[in-house]
Amino acid sequence: MYQCKDIADEVNDYIDGDLPLGKRVGLFFHLLMCSCCRNYLQQIRSTISIVTVSKPKENDATDTKVLAEKLHNLCKNHNH
Ligand SMILES: [Zn+2]
Repeated sequence: MYQCKDIADEVNDYIDGDLPLGKRVGLFFHLLMCSCCRNYLQQIRSTISIVTVSKPKENDATDTKVLAEKLHNLCKNHNH
């Protein structure tokens, strides 16, 4: 059975799909039981989707950037 420390070792291969089916299933069942590792996996996934251009989540990052720029411009207008 997988331990939390094993998840950290395997999680990158799991996301990349490089893990053999047996390991994927074991990891999957650990994730079902362990909310810590679920959060960990989610954090890694969101980090990857910000970095990777092709992922749909990138839109969120762009929106945040646009919003930040708008707020920044608003600030500038106030100061001038
Ligand atoms: Zn765990």
